[in-house]
Amino acid sequence: MKTALVCGAGGFIGSHLVKRLKREGFWVRGVDIKLPGFEETEADDFLQADLRDPVICREVLDQRFDEVYQLAADMGGAGFVFIGENDADIMHNSVMINLNILEACKRRTIKRVFYSSSACVYPEFNQMQPDSPVTSEDSVYPAQPDSDYGWEKLFSERMFLAYARNHGIESRIARYHNIFGPEGSWNDGREKVPAAMCRKIAMAEDGGEIEIWGDGAQTRSFLFVDECLEATTRLTRSDWTGPVNIGSNEMVSINQLADMVMGIAGKSLTIKHIPGPLGVRGRNSDNRLIQEQLGWAPSESLIHGLEKTYQWIEQQVMNEKSNP
Ligand code: NAD
Repeated sequence: MKTALVCGAGGFIGSHLVKRLKREGFWVRGVDIKLPGFEETEADDFLQADLRDPVICREVLDQRFDEVYQLAADMGGAGFVFIGENDADIMHNSVMINLNILEACKRRTIKRVFYSSSACVYPEFNQMQPDSPVTSEDSVYPAQPDSDYGWEKLFSERMFLAYARNHGIESRIARYHNIFGPEGSWNDGREKVPAAMCRKIAMAEDGGEIEIWGDGAQTRSFLFVDECLEATTRLTRSDWTGPVNIGSNEMVSINQLADMVMGIAGKSLTIKHIPGPLGVRGRNSDNRLIQEQLGWAPSESLIHGLEKTYQWIEQQVMNEKSNP
């Protein structure tokens, strides 16, 4: 039986990845500082442990897993990574985790490691216009990410590549672009745009008002979590290293996203634009490289993933109301 280790298995993407690997027949160990927030883990073995501790990382990697997925990070949406208050924690915690995992992989002669980097590595100066952002993989240098979260991801990418070069650990690096879906943060201060939008709209009375940070003309693309996992496992098992974008190229403005979710909810709401942390003005996933190397592209349009996510968040809102 093939074995996999998922670091960050209590988080949004990690908990979905555990389910997918189980469906594929893997024996899975999950590790995270917290348990999954919404459903019991499907991992065969789940360690609740702090990966900033090198001794713990050595214990977690007590066997030669066939696949190691490193998704653990101190992260969140714009309200967490762009406000400045969490920068030292983000950099310290995530670098410690990545360093410890790589060292433990080296000791255990692990062959293949997946690392989840981010679109936040791309330079701010290429993303100033909402309609023409540049995110081709080779545009990452000269580097100028707009957040310390992005700088940490870029440093850690380099660390994974250096360990690959010097210690033979084959790294597979993806730059995720706004992954969304059910069972992710939706009201804990770490939620991202799609979840926050679904929550605001689910909580509003028809004819009421919701608040959006900025003028809403800023653009992004969003990829449903199942699509992300298909690309992630394909990359991990391929002979190709990356770094590569894993995202959708269906770019929408935040105002358009609001309209789509209102349509799903069947509500007509007024949007009030307020100041808030924003990030770059425009971002879209450039999917040419992944299409060429892995033959992968998203299979469904944004609206399908939004429908599933809205349904789940609406249920959470109703649960909270009936059980405050
Ligand atoms: P998430 O916050 O839900 O998952 C990260 C997990 O790491 C959390 O469960 C957290 O408890 C765990 N973790 C943090 N510190 C830890 C520690 N010291 N020891 C053990 N576990 C620890 O985030 P996610 O959305 O599932 O993202 C997974 C990965 O993908 C992260 O590396 C993130 O930076 C990257 N990424 C995500 C997105 C996205 O849109 N969701 C975009 C770009 C990159």
